[in-house]
Amino acid sequence: MSRLLLLLACLCLALPLRAETFIQRLLDRPVPGGVAVIDLGEAAAAPRASYRDRPVMVLRDGQRWIAVVGIPLGTAAGAQSLQVQAQGQTRRVDFEVGTKRYVEQHIKLANQRQVNPNPDDLKRIERELAEQVAAYRRFTPGTPSNVFLDRPVDGGRLSSPFGLQRFFNGEPRNPHSGLDFAVPAGTPVKAPAAGRVVLVGDYFFNGKTVFVDHGQGMVSMFCHLSAIDVKVGDEVPRGGLLGKVGATGRATGPHLHWNVSLNDVRVDPAIFIDAFKP
Ligand SMILES: [Zn+2]
Repeated sequence: MSRLLLLLACLCLALPLRAETFIQRLLDRPVPGGVAVIDLGEAAAAPRASYRDRPVMVLRDGQRWIAVVGIPLGTAAGAQSLQVQAQGQTRRVDFEVGTKRYVEQHIKLANQRQVNPNPDDLKRIERELAEQVAAYRRFTPGTPSNVFLDRPVDGGRLSSPFGLQRFFNGEPRNPHSGLDFAVPAGTPVKAPAAGRVVLVGDYFFNGKTVFVDHGQGMVSMFCHLSAIDVKVGDEVPRGGLLGKVGATGRATGPHLHWNVSLNDVRVDPAIFIDAFKP
């Protein structure tokens, strides 16, 4: 009997105070451009959470509710807070953001207009940006079919990582908002989770582009495609064909550029395919 008690005591000591949830272990990368997975406790009904005034994904993981929060690239290290509403009350849940260093990348473009667009281009770019921002700001109630995403293309090495500080022909531009896969033109691009096609376009920078809303603010964008095989309103299953890899828009050669957005924040897609490098 006493031996059993001793064994139980040892087991209890070995367990952490509160076990990390499955999703926490796989997705919690709380750095600028990363993801914070925050425990919201146990409750019968789902709490609602927001970060920087935008709704945030809330999922059930075992017995607990968790928030899956996208952290903007420019965020300083230190405390951040989430607003959580449950049972008619609002509380603040603090979480810590660490640091991550992103390297520079210098790209040479033969087409100078893609570095310094003319006034007509700028008008077009502004219009296209507004359209794309609206797609990222969607927050539909359905829970994603899977939050550990499938790679959108088969094979291919990861080329440019997320967050690179970019210089085009020596001039600083926005950091790299997604992850690039080096794959040949024509490679099928597949939905990394089920979702609805919410925007399709042929843009100045992004070329032929598809946006898929996976639910609860998780939105994927695929760009520089050579062909698009879906239209706005289509429901695509996990693994469903979206289009083919190309080099349309501002691209130096065929590759797939994939963005993942949470709560209107572009985060590192590598996190969701278990390829994150700290
Ligand atoms: Zn890219």
